[in-house]
Amino acid sequence: MGCTSVLSRVPRFAVMFVSMLAAAAPAAAQDLDYVPGEVIVKLRGGQGASGAQRFMGKAVSAGGLKLQRSWAGINMHKFSVRADAPPKDVLAIVQELQGDPDVEFAEPNYYVRSQSTGVEREISAQEFEATGSSGSMSQTSAHIEAESAWTIMSPNAPVVTVAIIDTGIDYNHRVFAASGAIWTNPNEVPGNGIDDDRNGYVDDVRGWNFVANTASPMDDDGHGTHVAGIVLGVTQNIRANPISTAKIRLMPLKFLDSKGVGTTSDAIEAIYYAANNGAQVLNNSWGGGGFSQALIDAINYAYSRKAVFVAAAGNSSSNNDASPTYPANYAFPNLISVAATNDWDGLAGFSNFGKFTVHVGSPGVSILSTLPNDTFGYANGTSMATPFVAGVAALMLREAPAMNGYQIKNLILGGIDNASSLANKVATSGRLNVHSSVERAKATSPDPYMPAYDPASNGASRAPAQAKTAAGCGLVGKAILDGGGGQGPMRMIAFFGLLAALMAPILLSVYLRRKDGKNNRRHERYQIDSRVRVRFGDRELVGQVSSISLGGVQLNTDAWLEQGGVVTMQIASPDGKDVISVEGRVVWSEEQKRYGVAFQNAEDGALAAISRWTQSLLRT
Ligand code: CA
Repeated sequence: MGCTSVLSRVPRFAVMFVSMLAAAAPAAAQDLDYVPGEVIVKLRGGQGASGAQRFMGKAVSAGGLKLQRSWAGINMHKFSVRADAPPKDVLAIVQELQGDPDVEFAEPNYYVRSQSTGVEREISAQEFEATGSSGSMSQTSAHIEAESAWTIMSPNAPVVTVAIIDTGIDYNHRVFAASGAIWTNPNEVPGNGIDDDRNGYVDDVRGWNFVANTASPMDDDGHGTHVAGIVLGVTQNIRANPISTAKIRLMPLKFLDSKGVGTTSDAIEAIYYAANNGAQVLNNSWGGGGFSQALIDAINYAYSRKAVFVAAAGNSSSNNDASPTYPANYAFPNLISVAATNDWDGLAGFSNFGKFTVHVGSPGVSILSTLPNDTFGYANGTSMATPFVAGVAALMLREAPAMNGYQIKNLILGGIDNASSLANKVATSGRLNVHSSVERAKATSPDPYMPAYDPASNGASRAPAQAKTAAGCGLVGKAILDGGGGQGPMRMIAFFGLLAALMAPILLSVYLRRKDGKNNRRHERYQIDSRVRVRFGDRELVGQVSSISLGGVQLNTDAWLEQGGVVTMQIASPDGKDVISVEGRVVWSEEQKRYGVAFQNAEDGALAAISRWTQSLLRT
């Protein structure tokens, strides 16, 4: 669809969406732009206040930097170049800071953008109410089975909060006002100028505006309002007049400006706000910029708070496996990367895809939803596909409030409708199904255990600075999907997590052993011919191991393996007489150009067995 033809049909929101149309073009250089003169710095832990003070002194006097914002508790700070300091390129500042012994990492403050290709057509409230047949959802004609999901929903379930991390929401829109869908902060007294709940934000009664740093997250763009209407529309009929009371709450967190552009540091702040103020679902219809460890840390925080993080795959028609889109590409057990599909479950022409890094398809073409000032309109983008998934996550949490983010992800990915056109395009080869996701949530008895997650695996493939985590991958031969019964994978993960907690001294010894060698990043690899069963999520692979080391194995498979995913493996000894169980994490080996499994929390007995086996094996 040409930009000009879209714009000529849009009388009102044309200007505000120009930047999004530009952002939709595949333009790598543009994606990597950053705020001039700003850097995000994380200081090393364990040095206490004196270390931080020492660094601040250096940064201000010698570095010409000015502290702008600190995230207490995680040792992270945003600096800007002082006006009186000599002008210096951000990348040069970052490089200097990375050489500082007090600094864990330093990075530019990247720009990010909303992931819509623009509003197609605007309609009035009357037209909106007249669309479609009554009692059905209005946003899409794709068969995602939202209406039938509504019939099986529990009537008196807890209210779930979805954070809309976006351009804001027109919270006065009749759909939101009449349904009571906008989140309100119960512990904040409006307009008294006091931070009543001491969360760091004064008078934040309905979220926050991180762009202007005010308590008004009003949408001055339209994108966030459209996204919010999609989330609400998955959970109830928003065309009904009068509209019924909302079963969820939408938390407006504005960090994208009136052109749909924001910064990574504001995104991070919004994510912490969401996770700290009760949002269990985080909708992220935005992306761009370079690899950001600071953003990874924020998502990891959301993971630890049990939230699910839904992210737009991007609108560049490109393969995210080959060229990553952030934050969608960060590997987290609770992160769902969403591609856009049309009414017939085909991949939208603009949508990014990725057999390994994009998880699921969801409607994102000609999606009808709310726009500011009591209007409605059709829009396109992975921005629109993402909130369908967020809405489903909210419905599932109503049915099973104890679920963690990674459990929600597993159930959504397991509940898709297969779509042949999505094969090799998204990891599940499928499109979101609301009904089966909700049904699966109703049937689950979630294990409350939260396995610890080490986000360092994110760096294995995509960022050279983090390559250490790919250490110790061996080789495994061809494995095939046999669809075996996944009996209690959650329980398995939980079990190994518990084991990990008990095995801390052994972990240390494994770590020390790694550092002993001449090359502390590699273990000797051995040729082996053994059978392996790999369980991840609901699926099980059966295959052959062709090489092994104390650090891990490598899988050569066409089956779905997600970077960062937790797997459990049962590996048979070469003589087939004994079997060991090892937990691992899927990593990418840049050298081998393959996914592998790095052992983590490996039981001492298992490592001893591998050492024993390898005595009779040849090195690779
Ligand atoms: Ca407050």
